[in-house]
Order: sequence, then structure tokens, then C-alpha cells
Amino acid sequence: MTDVRESMYLVSEFAAKYFHDVLLNSEEGKAIGYSYFKERGFTNETIKKFNLGYSPETWDALTKEALGKGYKLEFLESTGLTIPREDRPFDRFKGRVMFPIQSMSGRVLGFGGRILTNDKKAAKYLNSPESEIYHKSKVLYGIYHAKQSIAKQNNCYLVEGYTDVIQFNQAGIENVVASSGTALTPDQIRLINRLTRNITVLFDGDAAGLRAAIRGIDLILEEGMNVRVCSFPEGEDPDSFARKNSHEALVSYLENNSKDFIQFKASILMDEAKNDPIKKADLIRDMVSSISKIPDRIQREVYIQECARIMDISEQVLVSTLAQLIQKDL
Ligand code: ATP
Ligand code: MN
Ligand code: MN
Ligand code: MN
Repeated sequence: MTDVRESMYLVSEFAAKYFHDVLLNSEEGKAIGYSYFKERGFTNETIKKFNLGYSPETWDALTKEALGKGYKLEFLESTGLTIPREDRPFDRFKGRVMFPIQSMSGRVLGFGGRILTNDKKAAKYLNSPESEIYHKSKVLYGIYHAKQSIAKQNNCYLVEGYTDVIQFNQAGIENVVASSGTALTPDQIRLINRLTRNITVLFDGDAAGLRAAIRGIDLILEEGMNVRVCSFPEGEDPDSFARKNSHEALVSYLENNSKDFIQFKASILMDEAKNDPIKKADLIRDMVSSISKIPDRIQREVYIQECARIMDISEQVLVSTLAQLIQKDL
């Protein structure tokens, strides 16, 4: 079976090269794909580093090219690059700009492809389907370029999208990965855990981003890792924010706005809850519920103390609430 997987890697790597080459050297690629990336502020260096590409509008441009080079239809189809059709198989990603997704060791596992219009009806991003080499729940976009920096900084920034990862890299921050195309999973967190115990969640300044961050916090705590959270102004995501600010401004924004999860939960709900005892009680229960996910007892104790201080409530009552929650889990 190893042969099958190796063949799938090889055809994926061929496709990544082909899309990149089309982007830089064909008339269509330059006019549509390359100029799209330029408009997003990506430099040539960045385009090269992330091996960004363009998949022609033509029905089967990649499929034809790959078959002509001796790659088998079987592997074009099992990687999802080609969609089977009896009469005429066609390219899954035609007419999209391409983001190759690499493993920790740099192999191409799959792709994300973005449409170029802002047509709200079409899916903005399309991803490779699950396959023997691409398991979206176990992959983090950007990990190949981030791993050294994550270990060195002893921290990993976790963002939502491809372009957030890329724009951060361009701004000189390399310890960043995205869960792209899926809600954060335990396997993805464990991948980061090999390199650091510290994650800072950076989420889009919209309702969906907030929900994703809140869900992510508990998952990270359950893995026994430390989580901080940094929000962006309404309507901004890490990509748009990084683009508007200098490296120095970005670094200091991240430093000044990263909070631990207790402070974060307090900050989003406190204004609302301050004068409402029922909401305040709900908020406290919510914090204790997150604390209950932490496997280490001493760490739980430390957060209980912080929660008591910030919410101005006795530790004793928090400890007994915590005990109930942990009991329920057993
Ligand atoms: P862009 O800046 O290119 O518009 P984004 O990365 O800011 O995109 P979001 O809408 O914030 O996009 O979504 C975050 C991530 O979720 C995307 O990068 C992509 O991986 C995934 N995603 C978004 N829309 C879709 C979709 N329709 N289908 C699959 N995945 C999607
Ligand atoms: Mn978003
Ligand atoms: Mn976004
Ligand atoms: Mn964006």
C-alpha cells in the first residue's frame, strides 16, 4: 500500500509545480492568478515560499498535462485532483488560485483552492477530498514553515485561514498555522503539542470567529496545553490586520491583546453580565467548566484562584462547582 501513497504524493507534487508554473509563466495565470495574489499584497518571495499557484479555467488542463507526463488517472482521481467522468474526466480546481497543503516534512498532501470572484453563491474555498494521504482533521496549514519557529518561540499562533498564515509569514511571524477547512480537532492540537505547550488562538473579528475560539479553548485545555486568545477589531482577520500594520505594530498588538482564557471569557461577557447576577453566574459556571477540562490539578487550582479574583467570588464555591463538574465527567 505504500506504493499507492507514494504515487499519490508524487502526482500531488507534480500538480503543485504545475499550478505554480502556470501562475508565473502562462498568460492566463499571470493575468488572473498572479495579479490576484499581488492585489492581496503577496510578494514574489511569498508566492514562491508557499508554492502558490493557479489552476486554468480549461476543463482538464492539469489532468491532460499529468497524463501526458505519465502520471496515472487512478492517482489523479484518488487524490481528488481529477473528478471522474466516463467520457471526459475534469479538473476539480479549475479556475481557482491554489494553496498546496504540506505535511510537517514538506510533502504535498492536498490543496485549498479559492475562487477569484466574491460571488456569495459559490463556495469560496474548495479543498481536496479525504484520501489516503489527506486527512483534513490531522493537518495544519503552514506547519512545514512554522515548525522551527514554533519550537524556538515556544508558542504557536493558531489562525483560521490560508491567507492569515501567509500574511503573518510575510510580516515576519512564522510560528503560525491554520486549521483551514475544518473546525479545530484534537489531532491538530497534538501536532502542535510536539513542538510547544503554548497556543495563542487568533480569531476573525466576527461571530463565527468568536464561536470557533471559544470551542478551541476547551479542546486545547483538554490536551493539557496552555491557551491564550487574541481578538482582532470587528471585521478584521489576522490577514487584513497584518497587512495594514507594520511588523512592530503587529508584534505589539499581539503582545498587548493576548489574554489567558479566564481574562478572555471575562472580557467578552463581563460588560453584559456586570449588573446582571444571573448572567454573571452563567459566566462563572462557563469559566469553571473550561477549568474542569484541565488535566493537571495544580493548574486547575491556579485558574480557580484567578477566576475568584477576577469575578470577585469565593474560591470555596468555585472549588465545589469544579468538583461537581469533574465528578460528572467520571
Ligand atoms: P479570504 O481572506 O481569502 O476571503 P479567509 O481565510 O479570511 O478568506 P474565512 O471566510 O475567514 O476566509 O474562512 C476561514 C477559512 O475557512 C478559510 O481560509 C478556508 O480554509 C475555510 N473556508 C472558508 N470558506 C469555506 C468554504 N466555503 N468551504 C470550505 N472551507 C472554507
Ligand atoms: Mn471568518
Ligand atoms: Mn478570515
Ligand atoms: Mn480573510
